[in-house]
Amino acid sequence: MTRIDDLPVREELRGQSPYGAPQLDVPVRLNTNENPYPLPEPLVARIAERVAEAARELNRYPDRDAVELRTGLAAYLTRTAGHAVTVEQVWAANGSNEVLQQLLQTFGGPGRSAMGFEPSYSMHALISRGTGTRWISGPRNDDFTIDVAAAREAVAVHRPDVVFVCSPNNPTGTAVTAKTVLALHDAAQAVKPTMVVVDEAYVEFSHHASLLPLIEGRPHLVVSRTMSKAFGAAGLRLGYLAADPAVVDAVQLVRLPYHLSAVTQATALACLEHTDTLLGYVAQLKAERDRVVEGLRAAGMEVVESDANFIQFGRFEDTHAAWQALLDRGVLVRDNGVPGWLRVTAGTPAENDAFLDAVRTALKSDAPAPNVATRSSEPSA
Ligand SMILES: *Cc1c(COP(=O)(O)O)cnc(C)c1O
Repeated sequence: MTRIDDLPVREELRGQSPYGAPQLDVPVRLNTNENPYPLPEPLVARIAERVAEAARELNRYPDRDAVELRTGLAAYLTRTAGHAVTVEQVWAANGSNEVLQQLLQTFGGPGRSAMGFEPSYSMHALISRGTGTRWISGPRNDDFTIDVAAAREAVAVHRPDVVFVCSPNNPTGTAVTAKTVLALHDAAQAVKPTMVVVDEAYVEFSHHASLLPLIEGRPHLVVSRTMSKAFGAAGLRLGYLAADPAVVDAVQLVRLPYHLSAVTQATALACLEHTDTLLGYVAQLKAERDRVVEGLRAAGMEVVESDANFIQFGRFEDTHAAWQALLDRGVLVRDNGVPGWLRVTAGTPAENDAFLDAVRTALKSDAPAPNVATRSSEPSA
């Protein structure tokens, strides 16, 4: 059998593993931060309508610049993020992962580097590698907040071309303050022109306001967003960014022509028509998240303060054994490779009850002493 390494693959890909959250068929799946609520029926009907319209013109290429969709996304941001955004400041692609890839193709690449503060979203490192951008792992405090002084020093020493700030951070749920982002942004610019990408995939679930207003007057600051989490449309594959119009112009240099299919554009537009209903689910999920936090604490678990639709909890001497014990009770959570911690996504009330039950029965009785952690085998975040 031919293996990957028998092929003439690029040197930096040899021996690496792909992104791989397990897709197991178990009753309660709380491992990939999906929204547990299916799209409401009226929206499903509207998608069918808009897709049918699009289908009548599928012999043609789609709107290459996705102007109607970007206009709708700009209106959504203007309404919800406390800052007026124009269509020229918004760009969309197939999931925010593609947005991040386009940013790295534009501002990273061979001979350049990107930095993130880990543990954080593993795709920042993986997409960097995929685009030939050297990855630099920056530090975090023990409570998973960003140590501003250490981060500034890391930026000064390593001189990255792109800096990722994930807020709220995946997998820890930690929000980053505007003050921290500005300190990092200014420290980076003092070294050389550096793109700072704020990944706000979960911001709709946060107790804090979006960092979007920071893009004003800062052409090196980009905010990325997605419809995968708050909009409950992970299957759609629609992500977007807001930044200076020059950034939007720059990513056109690397985007594939007609990258966003007419079906995708039609579906996303239908979702935007139902924003209020979808944000209503977000409010329910935030309340459920807070309830799960309380339940975990009541069960004797340690919990990291969460601004997202997931919670990092622990601590475990044997993280993988804890993960397996929950799985044995039909509950799939995520082992992101953060020693001592697991991550659970807020689900429906019934799923959360099942999770809390499993925690109480599987983890409490043999709860090991905290602070004694071993690294688990799964790749991070
Ligand atoms: C889920 C997630 C995304 C979303 O990726 P999509 O490609 O839009 O589905 C982006 N960033 C972070 C930190 C995430 O956790």
